[in-house]
Amino acid sequence: MGLEAEVLRNGEHRKVSAKNLVPGDVILVQTGDKVSADCRLLEESNLETLESSLTGESTPVRKDTKEIGIFTGVTVGDQHNMIFAGTTVTKGRGKAVVVRTGMHAQVGKIAKLIGDTEDDLTPLQKKIATFSKQIGILTIIIAAIVFLATALRGEGLLETFKISVSLAVAAIPEGLPVVVAMALALGIQRMIKRNALIRKLPSVETLGSTTVIATDKTGTLTLDKMTVKQLYVNQKIFDVAGYGYSVNEKLVLEENGKLLLRIGALCNNSMLEKGKVFGDPTEAALLVSAEKAGLVKRKLEKTYRRIDEVPFDSKTKRMSTIHDSPNGKVTYMKGAPDIVLGLCNRIFLNGKIKKLTGAQRKKIEGVNEKFASQALRVLGFAYGPAKGRENASKMIFVGLQAMLDPPRPEAKPAIEKCRKAGIRVVMITGDHKLTAVAIARKVGIKGAAVTGDELDRMENPGARIEEIGVYARVSPEHKIKIITALQKKGHVVAMTGDGVNDAPALKKADIGIAMGITGTDVAKEASKMILTDDNFASIVNAVEEGRSIFKNIKKFVYFLLSSNLAEVLIIFCATVVGLKSPLTAIQILWVNLVTDGLPAVALGMEPAGKDIMNVKPRKTSEGIINKLMIIRLLLMGATITVGTLAMYLWKLPQGHIYASTMAFATLVIFEMFNAIAAKSENKTFFSGFFDNKWLLWAIASSLALLGVVIYTPLSKYFHVTSEFAFTDLAIIFVAGFSVLIVDSVYKLWVRKVVAKST
Ligand code: ADP
Ligand code: MG
Repeated sequence: MGLEAEVLRNGEHRKVSAKNLVPGDVILVQTGDKVSADCRLLEESNLETLESSLTGESTPVRKDTKEIGIFTGVTVGDQHNMIFAGTTVTKGRGKAVVVRTGMHAQVGKIAKLIGDTEDDLTPLQKKIATFSKQIGILTIIIAAIVFLATALRGEGLLETFKISVSLAVAAIPEGLPVVVAMALALGIQRMIKRNALIRKLPSVETLGSTTVIATDKTGTLTLDKMTVKQLYVNQKIFDVAGYGYSVNEKLVLEENGKLLLRIGALCNNSMLEKGKVFGDPTEAALLVSAEKAGLVKRKLEKTYRRIDEVPFDSKTKRMSTIHDSPNGKVTYMKGAPDIVLGLCNRIFLNGKIKKLTGAQRKKIEGVNEKFASQALRVLGFAYGPAKGRENASKMIFVGLQAMLDPPRPEAKPAIEKCRKAGIRVVMITGDHKLTAVAIARKVGIKGAAVTGDELDRMENPGARIEEIGVYARVSPEHKIKIITALQKKGHVVAMTGDGVNDAPALKKADIGIAMGITGTDVAKEASKMILTDDNFASIVNAVEEGRSIFKNIKKFVYFLLSSNLAEVLIIFCATVVGLKSPLTAIQILWVNLVTDGLPAVALGMEPAGKDIMNVKPRKTSEGIINKLMIIRLLLMGATITVGTLAMYLWKLPQGHIYASTMAFATLVIFEMFNAIAAKSENKTFFSGFFDNKWLLWAIASSLALLGVVIYTPLSKYFHVTSEFAFTDLAIIFVAGFSVLIVDSVYKLWVRKVVAKST
């Protein structure tokens, strides 16, 4: 690692590689430095560090050397007298003593947490692995039989060896891994256009078997365009006019109301400038409501200079700031109403501080619930004298602000699409249960609602997991619990997340989805997919792409395997009855890689088709190769084998090389008809013949390449003859229709069987 730290050892300055730092070393940092270990500050001047990689907080944090008060938690964001490994110094300088290095540092802890949740193979990887093994075993068995047959006949060692090589080449689908990789890569391209960025290639396919999407509410199902619509202060409810970030509507309030809005504006890290906002939309909404009453953050900050902050955290669900005010130091706090109320023992009423009675608490809780059940996101506001860093248990309650965050218009249709596709959508949010339920109902999410606390109290969450549609007031740890319970039931879970704390859950989910706009780097790092527009509908689009990719993979797997099976059968049958092999190893290799490869890639680009989201998710236990496919493989493999051998035998009197050319051409042309058949599992070739122009091009070029191999000097490398008659080619073409006829009969039978069994 090239990172160096400036260390004070024995009174001397020295540059030391970061990995050689030990606890007890004293290091010096200044603007622009990357901190190389977790350190306790000894001295500082104007020191600020950017800790977004740890906390997700996007603004630099002011550091100091003061002791941490007993009321503050021990979260990273709270430790203002510490600087952390991996963070950057954005301002000032400091001297600090190293306390933790490497994996013991905070970054290391996160890395460990992420590393701890296992990285399973995806279904496709598992299937291809098992499948390759099966083919390998099969090849050995067949080769052994052929070897015995030829050896018993007393053929020379060279001939036996040649046949074994041809067989091995015939049995192994050389093109398969390449074509799978290409299909996945092209699918990823299509997904990017639909705002889903895939970080782990195989996840493309896992997406297609998703059975549960567990999604955040704010910003994913909703627009994250918050507007404060109602206030509750001094025991009265006020309506706030207007939507969005314009401040034209005026709001007239007395002293209590102004205090409520002032706390909102000052305990706030967002910015509002000329109708544009920067930062957390929840906080932006509070700036807008304050400006409607003439309270502008920038101006207020001159009188109430901020001296400290405890940032918002989705676990503590509150934020506090400390200000120097004309009446001394004061703490402003905002957060989830229940949390804030729990920290208050007094209330501000009619300009006076009163004791907070049980009845008043009930009243406030009632109003909170009333707001929440109207789908509003509610925040509580309080202030208090600032003695320590935050006088967190004796606060004075001021009031509530309730904001509207409309659902995204695409959310409801996307959820309906999921319902048809047999995918359950559950909402996971830090918001109040009633707010969550109200939004859930608006977008069409069904099922019971539980809070994180209720979840903790459940002895066996698995028992109810299938009926729960909304999880409210949850912390990131609950997400792990939910995923585990769902996975135990056999679900394939896609889950969204944005914060640093979400990383372990994102890792644990079958598809961890990070938010591209609001997500932290740590969340993105832990995810398998990133939503570039943070939009729920994009998840559903990605699932749709995933399904279509898998369906296409199935098409070309069938296509390539039927070809390989035919090749094996051709050589096997011929050699067992004592004939010379109709196909040479190089011919087979050419078919597998070139003339089969092109149509296979094209099959990977088949359009999705209308019903792709009208069927249940594919079971992960369902292999690519199911019973029906095996029947189809045997049937078509036999058809092509019989056709090829017949043509070979017919031309054998004209010499082996002519007959071999005939067999080779027959195999290639039959495969082209087979490619057309492979377009669908149950629809005959008439439907959608022209809908994939890539396939038509691929077939045309494969045939052209067949011509090149036969009719150019290349022929001598392929053991074919350029004297090959065009009439024979024409005959093969006519015979090739037999492939489509057999296929159509099979498909009619499939439709009968499938129709009966469902
Ligand atoms: P979600 O992301 O699911 O909407 P959050 O964890 O962001 O949930 O918010 C949970 C609760 O915390 C909200 O209902 C709100 O009351 C409160 N809250 C949200 N953002 C802030 C903030 N910036 N400062 C203080 N409290 C907040
Ligand atoms: Mg949030």
